[in-house]
Amino acid sequence: MRMETQVRVLIIDDDVDLASNLRDILEGEGYAVSVAHDAQSALTLCDENTFDLGIVDIKLPDVTGVKLIDRLTEVSPHTEYIIMTGYASLDSAIEAVKQKRIVAYETKPLDMVRFLSLIEQVTKRRQAEEDLVALRKLDQLKDEFMSLISHELRSPLTVIMGAVNTALTEYTRLSEQEMRQLLSDASYEAEVLSHLLGDLLELARAQAGQISLYEEPLDIDEVVRDTVAKIKRQSNAHHFMVRTGGKLPLVKADRLRLERILYNLLDNAVKYSPAGGDVKVFAREDGDCLVIGVSDQGIGIPLEDQQRLFEPFQRLGNKLEGVSGIGLGLVVCQRLVQAHGGRIWVESAGKQGSTFYFTLPVFRETECDGPQVR
Ligand code: ADP
Repeated sequence: MRMETQVRVLIIDDDVDLASNLRDILEGEGYAVSVAHDAQSALTLCDENTFDLGIVDIKLPDVTGVKLIDRLTEVSPHTEYIIMTGYASLDSAIEAVKQKRIVAYETKPLDMVRFLSLIEQVTKRRQAEEDLVALRKLDQLKDEFMSLISHELRSPLTVIMGAVNTALTEYTRLSEQEMRQLLSDASYEAEVLSHLLGDLLELARAQAGQISLYEEPLDIDEVVRDTVAKIKRQSNAHHFMVRTGGKLPLVKADRLRLERILYNLLDNAVKYSPAGGDVKVFAREDGDCLVIGVSDQGIGIPLEDQQRLFEPFQRLGNKLEGVSGIGLGLVVCQRLVQAHGGRIWVESAGKQGSTFYFTLPVFRETECDGPQVR
């Protein structure tokens, strides 16, 4: 029998030969098998391991199999059991099967073909139940995601509609400055919306393995300055420092994708740090690549959370009031950086801010003359 995850079986029988034969047969079928010959060692094993299935002799030297299963269920509530019984104890076995965790009984001497098929049935049913639980969880996640995304899409749309409607209905009464403010609010929210949809599209492409890049030699300083200017137009509450000038080599990258990576990192640096803080972008050459860093003086990221941030829709409990998001920006950064052959990581020491780093390949004159699409 083929199993995706190995099913763990515990045999509990004081008949050493029978237990050992059974172990060999079950291991041959792909199960992970442990053996105990008495109640105490069974309890110790259950304490240290998790078993899917217990195969228990109804008569053990120190306790009955049924009583032992009662105690094992306290230690390991999710294990199910098959009772092995002689004809003399058949009635008590049938009685035992009426209990919740004992799913079947089999009389000794065991008919191996039947017994294996019984184990297979039990484990298949169990796996089907586990799959169902996982599917339900996925379904629930999908619902949560849909409600999160519709909220994130709806709020900028509400502002845009409100601003445009007011401009349309009140245009005779509004001053030029008020009109300008309305249109600038609408324009800002339209950019937010467009960026969010762009991120969603990039993630969908990445999941389908369909990111194609338009790579060309780029001056990192120029792209950084353009992106910082774009961020500043949206919020000027931070002090931006750009340290990407000097004698750095050109990078080989897709300009729009590079802007998106920088935008997401800068946007986070602004979102997750208090107004007035420094946001710094810097770069250094390291062998065949350029390391680019974006640092802030914000709330920081605990070490144990740093890895999962690059998974889709992960948000930490470190959110600031009024800061929205759906946990999309960093995963998009990671997929785009990886598509360029680079890597991305974060360093953060407690509450003293965070620095996100990513690498991009340096452009070599010898590679080719014009842009490359891949
Ligand atoms: P979003 O900002 O939409 O939640 P991201 O994928 O950009 O999604 O970020 C995921 C999470 O990582 C954020 O919710 C936040 O908890 C954390 N995070 C990202 N950047 C920073 C940062 N510069 N400082 C502190 N926390 C951050």
